[in-house]
Amino acid sequence: MDYIVKRVVVGKLETNCYIIKDKASRAAVVIDPGDDAILIKSVLLEMDAAASVILLTHGHFDHILALDELRTPKTTVCMHGADADMLVSSDLLSPSVLGYNPWPFGAPDVLFGDGDRHARQGGFDFEVIHTPGHTEGSVCYLFGDLLFTGDTLFCGGVGRTDFRGGDAEKLRRSLALLKRMPGDYAVYPGHDRETTLSEERLHNPYLR
Ligand SMILES: [Zn+2]
Ligand SMILES: [Zn+2]
Repeated sequence: MDYIVKRVVVGKLETNCYIIKDKASRAAVVIDPGDDAILIKSVLLEMDAAASVILLTHGHFDHILALDELRTPKTTVCMHGADADMLVSSDLLSPSVLGYNPWPFGAPDVLFGDGDRHARQGGFDFEVIHTPGHTEGSVCYLFGDLLFTGDTLFCGGVGRTDFRGGDAEKLRRSLALLKRMPGDYAVYPGHDRETTLSEERLHNPYLR
């Protein structure tokens, strides 16, 4: 499958929301609709795309705030089960800071578990790589040679482990798993700019 990938920077923490469109159809995947639903919808429109799947890399608020506004009865929402409680309530951000209370969000349609690796949703085939550490339910998604790493791996850095559910040792193991993946991948992180896995193997102090 050939993909078109668009990055949409959303919300106060400048989270990367990604739209992955199948070149041969209108179907699209939205990864981490973190805020600014209207902006994400306008980019979908520009791309002549309709979201059939919404994938969450983890449950932090800056990756989910626009979830309910983007979802339709035709959209399948997927995430790892270990972060599902973050859609019910947040302990990172109080609703009073936001000025409104989006919790609880609608329940996800699909919860990935530890045995899941290959997934097929909404006409897309992809791999789910469980990479706990930043949160227990953090995952990376692999579409061909495109790797979406959420807050697990950034260009030159990695996600924090000092929030609830964070675990530095688990993150270290998750990064080792990514590092060992054979070949090279374009890396699309949850914040900041794109990179490649080969670049990170060379220059990211957490991957050396
Ligand atoms: Zn996060
Ligand atoms: Zn984030």
